Amino acid sequence: MRTRLAIVTTILLASPTYAGPAAKVSPTPSPAAPTTSAAPAASPAPSASPAASASPVPAASPAPSPSPAPSPPPDPFYGGKSISGFKAANHVTFTFDDGPDYHNTPAILDALDAYNIKATFFVCGYRFGGKSETAQKNRETLAEIVKRGHLIGNHTWNHLVLPQTQEPKLSWEIDKNAELIERETGRYPYLFRPPFGSVSPRIAKALAKRGLTTVMWSSDSADTKKPFKTEKVHKAAIKGILKNSGGVVLFHDTHKWTAKAIPLVLADLQAENCRRLAASEPVIEVVNLDHFFVPKVGGEPAPGPTAEISAQRQAWRTRLETACKAASARND
Ligand SMILES: [Zn+2]
Repeated sequence: MRTRLAIVTTILLASPTYAGPAAKVSPTPSPAAPTTSAAPAASPAPSASPAASASPVPAASPAPSPSPAPSPPPDPFYGGKSISGFKAANHVTFTFDDGPDYHNTPAILDALDAYNIKATFFVCGYRFGGKSETAQKNRETLAEIVKRGHLIGNHTWNHLVLPQTQEPKLSWEIDKNAELIERETGRYPYLFRPPFGSVSPRIAKALAKRGLTTVMWSSDSADTKKPFKTEKVHKAAIKGILKNSGGVVLFHDTHKWTAKAIPLVLADLQAENCRRLAASEPVIEVVNLDHFFVPKVGGEPAPGPTAEISAQRQAWRTRLETACKAASARND
């Protein structure tokens, strides 16, 4: 019996909730896994053979057979609803589309790091699939995004207007990109942003069938619209964040004017938050995308924020308070 208990304990300990975006080594569920996998705790311990549990001296000889691999935890983004960010409640998250781009993404990663912020990057396979030197450099950039703890979402391979795309091309655009992302990052991307935000009932059905969570946005930085100016992108982003009390902000990490605007946006947001802290008003907290919806896995709420995400939120808050104190001391 002690052996059996020990094995069950091992399984429970080895089955944490989702370990976070940087957990490259954790088993990644296939698209079908979340609906078919049983909760780890409910599984019997199949390796506890009758002979082993009957043995009165379990401590003398450890069971030779290794514990079975636990079922992979359900991905928190599987089967979620559409997210737009309009019910923001003083939470803001940043999203970057169309990359990775080895020219412009790295500067954005540095700016996000400077403010202890995790964002989401919706990537296109045409940029980082294949053998060209550009693809290779963009793959390295993608790896760097993941290494720094950001989320990766599917933005299709070729960035076509999906309602105008027919089968089998439609499935190829979604699935081929998902496969490539999973191969490069170790995690199947359940977050999906349709190119141009363009969907139709047929497209929505194709996405739902795959359990994908569609991510739209509440604030558009307008960085794909002329004039291509850093200051315009900066102002549009801040205006949208303040108007919606946070939300999901859309940028494209493929433009130099965006890369230059991000540090300005983050500095302004910090100044606004310092003002709010001093006035005892709620700050606009920069969070990970998962704060914007309650994902469902097989009808049940997915695991809540992990210890890693809670720690990230605390780290962001601590850094903000420290920065505000320093700014206030400089102004005194
Ligand atoms: Zn796009």
